[in-house]
Amino acid sequence: MTKGCCQLLWDEIAGHKTVCSSLRRAVEQGNVNHAYMFAGPSGVGKFIVARTFAASILCSKGDCGACNVCRRVMEEKHPDVTVVRPEGKNIRIETIRSIRMDAFKKPVESDHKIYIIKNAERMWEEGASTLLKVIEEPPDNVIFILVTTNVGGVLPTIRSRCQEIRFSNVPADELKAYLMEKKDISPERADLVARLTGGVLGRALDWCDEPWRLTRRDDVIRCAQALRRVDLNQALVLARELYRDVRAPTDELSVAYQDKKSMLTDGTLDGATARRISKELDDECKREQVKEEIRGVKELFSTLAWWYRDILLYGQGARAALLINRDLEREIAEEADALSPVNLLKCIEILGDSMRAAEQNVPAQLNIESALFGLQEALYV
Ligand SMILES: [Zn+2]
Repeated sequence: MTKGCCQLLWDEIAGHKTVCSSLRRAVEQGNVNHAYMFAGPSGVGKFIVARTFAASILCSKGDCGACNVCRRVMEEKHPDVTVVRPEGKNIRIETIRSIRMDAFKKPVESDHKIYIIKNAERMWEEGASTLLKVIEEPPDNVIFILVTTNVGGVLPTIRSRCQEIRFSNVPADELKAYLMEKKDISPERADLVARLTGGVLGRALDWCDEPWRLTRRDDVIRCAQALRRVDLNQALVLARELYRDVRAPTDELSVAYQDKKSMLTDGTLDGATARRISKELDDECKREQVKEEIRGVKELFSTLAWWYRDILLYGQGARAALLINRDLEREIAEEADALSPVNLLKCIEILGDSMRAAEQNVPAQLNIESALFGLQEALYV
């Protein structure tokens, strides 16, 4: 499995330098393990690295990125690379069983079979123990890459069979350089996006492609500025505005799913099948909406928390370079004059609690309202 020194696909990846070079070395030296666990926060690029790793194992030229093999691996169309995702909440036991059977068949066109399992923590016990059986004694040419945000959720016996590769957020400077090159944006804007998204690659790319996210941040901060001058009733109005903004993308989702459903009635499916698929689409839409809403609420709270953190630091004499919202230095200075560190710390604490509540599925509207009431009380001067 010795490979040349092509490095094109690897060079496309933002950050994760140590991880990538150790995986590359493993391929070049023919030293690839049977099972890996890629662990780290959501959106940092674990899956892109997994696909690149798979391509570099199969590509006869290293990881040229241009050949038929590389292209199909990256598009998830290569017959010897299987990507498994949860369907609904979990990965189906049937899927794991079919992997177990499939793993013992010969590869279709290369020397290896690779299985990339996304959200590997989302497996029922039966699925996990079925997977364990094949990971324990894998056929020679089979490689598993389990991808997870939560290693604690993976069966310890599976975990102990995998080489664990830890991913962390991309350092702001590396992310900035990557965004400038790939997205052709100004250094100031790349810097701001890298900071606001906390080095999470997936989020940073979203921020570049969807400029409304920056407008949204400005709206949230305007609301935070207003909050220290309003009473409870007005705080409730602000909370409703913020909730409406959080809801907006979920409404778009429901329109998109309606479109999908309308295609079912073109007469190509029989009634029962169309009804079943329609029901599945409804369920999927609901799940996606819940996910999107939680994501929106968490983004809202994190925008607010960074804002108060910036004011706190600035008030204590921190340099502007340390600010997340560096473009709003004047506004931050103004708030720092008006607010005391004790109140600001209280705000950050409230937002931490609200963030945890969002993770525990507290209804978004209620969560936003109670956060804003808490902030209003802490800030009102
Ligand atoms: Zn290639």
